[in-house]
Amino acid sequence: MVEELEQLHHDGSSFSQLYLVEEGCELSFPSSVYEIMNSFSQTTYRVGLSGLPGLQDERIPLMVWQSCGFTVHSIVVSAMESEKPLFGSLSSRQNDCLSTFIRFCGVVGSNFGEPKVIRSHSLKLLSTLLEAEGENPSILEVDVFSLMVSLTYSLPSLFNGEGPAPLPSCNIQDLHILRLAFLAHLTQLLASLPPFSLKTRDGFRSPPAKDCRALLDLLQVVKGDPSVLELDPAAVWQDCIVASLGFLRSAALFYHYLSGVGAPTELTELLPPDQEFSHLVKYLGLPSTPRLLLDSPFSLVLARRWMSHPELRLGEKFSYVAAVPQLVQLPQDYSNLINSISSFTCPRSDGEESKTPSMCLVCGTVVCSHSYCCQAELEGTSVGACTAHSHSCGAGTGIFLRVRECKIVMFSGRTKGCFESPPYLDQYGETDEGLRRGNPLSLCQDRYTRLHKLWLNHGIAEKVTHNTEASSGFVPTEWISL
Ligand SMILES: [Zn+2]
Ligand SMILES: [Zn+2]
Repeated sequence: MVEELEQLHHDGSSFSQLYLVEEGCELSFPSSVYEIMNSFSQTTYRVGLSGLPGLQDERIPLMVWQSCGFTVHSIVVSAMESEKPLFGSLSSRQNDCLSTFIRFCGVVGSNFGEPKVIRSHSLKLLSTLLEAEGENPSILEVDVFSLMVSLTYSLPSLFNGEGPAPLPSCNIQDLHILRLAFLAHLTQLLASLPPFSLKTRDGFRSPPAKDCRALLDLLQVVKGDPSVLELDPAAVWQDCIVASLGFLRSAALFYHYLSGVGAPTELTELLPPDQEFSHLVKYLGLPSTPRLLLDSPFSLVLARRWMSHPELRLGEKFSYVAAVPQLVQLPQDYSNLINSISSFTCPRSDGEESKTPSMCLVCGTVVCSHSYCCQAELEGTSVGACTAHSHSCGAGTGIFLRVRECKIVMFSGRTKGCFESPPYLDQYGETDEGLRRGNPLSLCQDRYTRLHKLWLNHGIAEKVTHNTEASSGFVPTEWISL
């Protein structure tokens, strides 16, 4: 059995047939490339689900597609953070990453999954979007963009008999998927946005109120409250325009790299929200007004179904608006930070002082690190409190401030890490690692911003590797026990 699968797995000829360029003319891949693709898929699974996949595990394609959705989203967030337009400003690394990854995902289904498995994934994704089964998550808990990405890659498999899924070709089917996903996202926004604006914004172009009225019908279904019909429909639509930009940017980037259709030049500049919205929907082929978007009796039927999900948690705080994640806010004066952790004791040894309290800069949790008392077990291995916390807080990646030493420590995986200089400086502009000199220290916003940028752009792993290479020959630190 294993042998048989192995053969199937490494069969380069079935793979290369997907790249038929002209009749009788194949674009074949060397087996080394295929090996790399295989290993990439397996790694995505291994890191995402922290376990080694079995040969041809059914979840491998889903994990790869999911990580594609996440990658697109994180590049959109990275562009937002640096206040750059979506198109024309990506680094060549981001550009190469997206163009390769998005196309690679197109062949994952046919090569790293059985056709019938891909068909069943596709049906499951469809039923999540179209039905309100208790065994599926409710629409409020779904990352609609990633679901759309997975559906784009798997849906063609339903129309190809017993054969493998054909490559998605950005056809009318993809447009329907996008439109459905956008409707679902709009429903999420209506369910979660804070109180809507009562008046339209000044200088904000949006369609006349009569073209927006259909949105209130959808809002009434979502909230189950007829009083929402009194709201100004154009003002509510403007709120939705602003809030939906993150989703639309991700979608535009995704389809741009999937289809190769160039983006309009307007989107290579930073635009006010109303203009950006109108260029994005035009590029994506989406209707620009609620009247056109909801111009189907099924829209409200579907929304009612979503709202009837048995596990729907309507009052819960979900945020669907793309925002730049931040590190914790640190006090300007370092002595305030020292004071704030002075009462921190080792959680395992009744009231005893923790020698090396370390603060996770992602969530603010303080752990008692570098000590036997707070070691934890992670898949059969004893690890330090920082490593254990990084595992649950950042999937193995972590960034901490050792408060008593004023030192930054970063982790990448269980066995690698590095120390970095802290974002606190004395009056001469110098750091005081280990607090030996004892001069008053205050937060250097520039340094902290650099750390934030590094973390946000997934640069910690690279930083750790770089520092490990640079410092080879020194006494190695046992990162796992920190
Ligand atoms: Zn944390
Ligand atoms: Zn402890």
